[in-house]
Amino acid sequence: RSPGFHFFGHVQAGRDVTVSELFDTHHAVILACGAEADRKLGIPGESLPGSHSAAQFVGWYNGHPDYRSLTFDFSQEIALVIGQGNVALDVARILAKSVDDLSHTDIAEHALDALATSRVREIHIVGRRGPAQAKFTCQELGEMGSLAGWTALVDPADLALNAASRLEIADKMGRNSAKNLAMFTKFASSWPAGSQRRCEFHFLLDPREVQGCTRVEAARFARNALEGEPFHQTAVDTGDSIEFACGLLFRSIGYRAAPIEELPFDDARGVLRHTNGRLNDTSGRPLYGLYATGWIKRGATGIIGTNRADSLETVATLLSDLPQLEVGEKAGAAGLAAKLSASGTRFVTHDQWLRIDRVEVSSGRVKGKPREKLTRVDAMLDACMAGAS
Ligand code: NAP
Repeated sequence: RSPGFHFFGHVQAGRDVTVSELFDTHHAVILACGAEADRKLGIPGESLPGSHSAAQFVGWYNGHPDYRSLTFDFSQEIALVIGQGNVALDVARILAKSVDDLSHTDIAEHALDALATSRVREIHIVGRRGPAQAKFTCQELGEMGSLAGWTALVDPADLALNAASRLEIADKMGRNSAKNLAMFTKFASSWPAGSQRRCEFHFLLDPREVQGCTRVEAARFARNALEGEPFHQTAVDTGDSIEFACGLLFRSIGYRAAPIEELPFDDARGVLRHTNGRLNDTSGRPLYGLYATGWIKRGATGIIGTNRADSLETVATLLSDLPQLEVGEKAGAAGLAAKLSASGTRFVTHDQWLRIDRVEVSSGRVKGKPREKLTRVDAMLDACMAGAS
């Protein structure tokens, strides 16, 4: 609502407008476009039907237009999630929650209908390192212990830590891990499982192969041991392996940013090259006027608070660069609107976005949901005109 703020939705940098074109109308450009590509395991069988990325599943149940048409076979009883970060917990929670609970959230309708038929009764969340290295935040992990009708479980034998992991837990930096370990210990008190539906956490297992003839039937893991200094321990193969039967498999091993045309990209880290938020060219020279913040700046880590601190750094850098930026009038938002209109790009203004919001909220209200998301771009563009005179 700030008069200096203008919103241009439905515009993709690199497709509808280049970064150079943005510079024609503005003195500085901040890239805050996140990391939406999923990372691959690079193991045989990864592409078998029934094997999905967490990014696809999360996009699907959130009603993202690019993922809404995907299908997941919920007639399967055993699901396996590879990776031990918060996204793995998001996947497991959606699989485990009752439709009654989900029906009061903003989950997309198509997902709710499909999940209503789910026969999933076992979820295995598998990490390549130990319980002290799991990346869950303790609050999110704790929620797994209170899902109605489900028991969260850990084999007590998996909680025996090596000396370096004990040091990690004792260190102030390992505070979250210590809380996680307390939670895993609680989950271990219910081991072995009864007949209830269960969500098991497994450690020190490296995915090696997804098995199956025409679809996912099992996954094979190498058993790992940890080596190295506290907080730098890596997993090494012990030579043993183990198989898990499963009919659904989700890899949840992090996200990666996609390169943006014209901008210097660090391919190894999957981020834009920068110093304190200001982009550098490939020789490390500063590119005044070009900035990055969020996951495209530092990789797919951190919670909302992390992004807030991160953006403060970027904005501080931009402000200290003011003397270096181009001088002279630029056409700003009006110029960009003219450029987009001239090239036939249909963009969405903030007022139009508010109309989409109103349509979603009012169709959610009748179902007792915070909103019913529109999941097709055409429907969103139609909603932009709703109530317009
Ligand atoms: P993440 O926290 O980085 O976790 C990725 C997991 O995948 C780690 O357990 C990692 O193990 C494992 N992994 C990576 N490569 C692997 C491989 N080749 N084989 C097997 N395992 C592999 O990533 P995320 O879960 O996608 O979450 C991204 C960020 O969003 C995190 O900072 C997360 O906290 C945040 N987030 C927060 C919330 C929330 O606050 N509610 C919800 C969702 C996401 P290693 O540790 O061994 O690398």
